[in-house]
Amino acid sequence: MTSTSATFSRDSYSLFTAIGRGLKRTCPHCGKGHVFKGYLKPHDCTNCSAPIGEIKADDLPPYLTIFLVGHIVVPLLLFVEAIYHPSLFFQMAIWPTLALLLTLLFLPFIKGGALGLMWYLRIKGDEQH
Ligand SMILES: [Zn+2]
Repeated sequence: MTSTSATFSRDSYSLFTAIGRGLKRTCPHCGKGHVFKGYLKPHDCTNCSAPIGEIKADDLPPYLTIFLVGHIVVPLLLFVEAIYHPSLFFQMAIWPTLALLLTLLFLPFIKGGALGLMWYLRIKGDEQH
């Protein structure tokens, strides 16, 4: 018999605890097991077997990552342009590279947080509209 999401009670922790555990890339249910195989592929918890691998976060993690990175890079770009007036070559080399690196840095952690949110709300991502 396989365990389903419904058999795991969320009564002992809050939504924010589940999101926080996810942001640390650990299981949103127990906070101890690992739920990622590699960079972004979710799988069931290695500690409590919570079926995290069946959650499909789809576009939420990239959307949140773009939102966050945009709110870091764009003000920084405007500040540097206003104060230092760097060359166009510098601008074209630095800002896309910084945006790419921050995106690759934040995405796995934000995906963990999104999985924590979806886990707590019992959303698997395959619901019909
Ligand atoms: Zn777990």
